[in-house]
Amino acid sequence: MLCTKCGEPWYLDSLHDSIKDDAYPQDLKEVLRKGDRFDQDTYERDYWKPKLADFRNRGCAAITGTPCKPETTTTAMALQSALEDLLGDDVDGIENSLEDLGSW
Ligand SMILES: [Zn+2]
Repeated sequence: MLCTKCGEPWYLDSLHDSIKDDAYPQDLKEVLRKGDRFDQDTYERDYWKPKLADFRNRGCAAITGTPCKPETTTTAMALQSALEDLLGDDVDGIENSLEDLGSW
């Protein structure tokens, strides 16, 4: 996925890692530490979708914690925006489409 502010490309795993590093609240850490079954639906609803929305809103800052600079718009970013309108939350589809089009 391209940062919506500066066009920096990020792997989706970077967003997942960011959730693990920074955003897991204590209760989820407890769940993981106790080895209870990890609920993918809960993860997607409570952690992944908010992180994705944050990334689309704030760009790199959602991952790094600091605003990106400079803010700019590239053709690839415009393309990603159009793909988001078409594919919504299908981020794998968006990423694959960008790769197929040679824009990532
Ligand atoms: Zn950025």
